[in-house]
Parts: sequence; C-alpha cells; structure tokens
Amino acid sequence: MTFREYWQPLTALYDAGEARSIALLALERRFGLSQTDVLCGAMDSLDEQSLTLLRSRLLAGEPVQYVLGEAEFCGRIFHVEPGVLIPRKETEWLCHKAVELMDGISDGSLLDIGTGSGCIACTVALERGRQPELLNTEVVAWDISDQAIAMARGNAAKLGAHICVEKTDALNPPVDTNRWDIIISNPPYVCQSERVAMHQNVLCHEPELALFVPDDDPLLFYRAIARYAIHALKPCGKVLFEINPLFADEITKMAECMGFGTVAIENDIYGKKRYAVISCPNGK
Ligand code: GLN
Repeated sequence: MTFREYWQPLTALYDAGEARSIALLALERRFGLSQTDVLCGAMDSLDEQSLTLLRSRLLAGEPVQYVLGEAEFCGRIFHVEPGVLIPRKETEWLCHKAVELMDGISDGSLLDIGTGSGCIACTVALERGRQPELLNTEVVAWDISDQAIAMARGNAAKLGAHICVEKTDALNPPVDTNRWDIIISNPPYVCQSERVAMHQNVLCHEPELALFVPDDDPLLFYRAIARYAIHALKPCGKVLFEINPLFADEITKMAECMGFGTVAIENDIYGKKRYAVISCPNGK
C-alpha cells in the first residue's frame, strides 16, 4: 500500500492536510518510520494487516493520540487514554508563562488545578528542574478523576517529574492561605451549546468531565478557583487560566469584582483570546 492509499480514506473525517499528518504520525510512532522513510516507500515492507488494523481505529474516528496511547506536549511524550483530555498545542503557552513568571523565585510553588494527564504540572516541574538552583520548586496537581490521577502519577514517574498529585475537587477546594506563587488551570470551559461546532472525534472520545460547563454557568470553574486563589496565593502570586475566548470579558469582570489586581488577556497561536493572567490585589 502506498502512503497516499493509506491516508486518502481518512479524508472522510479530516481535511486532506490533517488526514495526511495523522497518518504520518501514526506510522512514525507505531512503526518507527521517519517521514522520509514513509515517502520513500518503506511502507511496502510493513505487514499489511497491522497497517489496516491501525487505520481502522483512525477511520472509526478515534483520535490518533488515543490510538497510539501518547501525545506530545512541550517536546515530551505523555501517556494518554480516553478519560483524560488530549493535551492541546495552545495549552503549552501556560507552561512557558508559568516558568517565566517564576524565574526569579528560587523555591517557588505552583498548583495545577484539573491536571488530567499531568502535562502542565510535569512540564513546569521538569523545566524548572533544568536549573539546579530551582530544584526546590513545589508542584502540586489536583484532579477529581481517579483515572486522571493515576495517569498524571504515571506520567510524572516516567518522565522523572517531581510533582504531587492529589484528589481534590476544584469546586470544593480546601481553605489555604499564602501558599502558592502560581495557580494554573485549564478547566472545563466549553458550553453545551458549542457542541454543534465541534469535531465528532472530540465529542465521541474525549471526556465530557474535562470539557463541558453548563450554558447557564460558563464561569463555574473560574469562579471557584478564583475564590480559592484570592486567599491561597502569596502576595505577589498569579493565576494563569486557559479560557474560552467567548468569555474573556466576563472573566476579566469577575476577577476585578472579586478584588484581584490586573487582568491581562492574551491571544493564542490562532489569534484567539485564550489566556488570562490575573495578579493578586496588591500585585503588578
Ligand atoms: N481547548 C479544548 C477544546 O477546544 C477545551 C479544553 C477545555 O475545556 N479546557 O477542545
């Protein structure tokens, strides 16, 4: 089978560019072929049955990351299974920002709320760990899902990231005071009414728990986290949120009304309002 014959049927689900890159990723990761190998016809030597088996899962609409059991995030490979959200490219920004904001802090502390696969918490811990003087960073990750907790712990162990994963409901956090330099979260933020615009492979395979909020309360998680954060952050601490671009103004207003300091909304790589950086009442 040629490469073209392999990816062409996937255009029933994806546009041509995406179909091609999904097929390429699957072949690279599953069979250890490079892009050049694939384009030079190395597929000829592969067992036709295993090729077809792999493709049948892709044709059934399973996201390639679940089929492979792994997803790349900030240059590292994380194990993923249905039950945790597949790490998104745009979420990488949160990690870079957290590392940048904690740059001058030697023994910083960060809490990741709703960690899923643990990709944010592990990335920050590992990036900080590159500098020996920052090795004392405390990184804690919360999730409510047992499956996510197990996966985050597994990823941390595999990657050698020193994080502590705890079962905590973001909607019922403990009372903490003056505890964190950074609170980071990519909580569920997609409204039920946005379902119609979403791809079937997300809707049928990714966890509802990690994605959706009720139409009548889109800020559910942001409000709960911000209420926790206002006491739990250190005086110069910051909250970093990934947000739904539709609610950038509401999130800004909410934080201002709750007495936070500045709120900066930042765009993602696609030009959408995707992040909120919120500072403490007296912070800059
Ligand atoms: N960005 C994800 C998506 O569009 C949603 C992530 C989230 O709800 N936190 O599918």
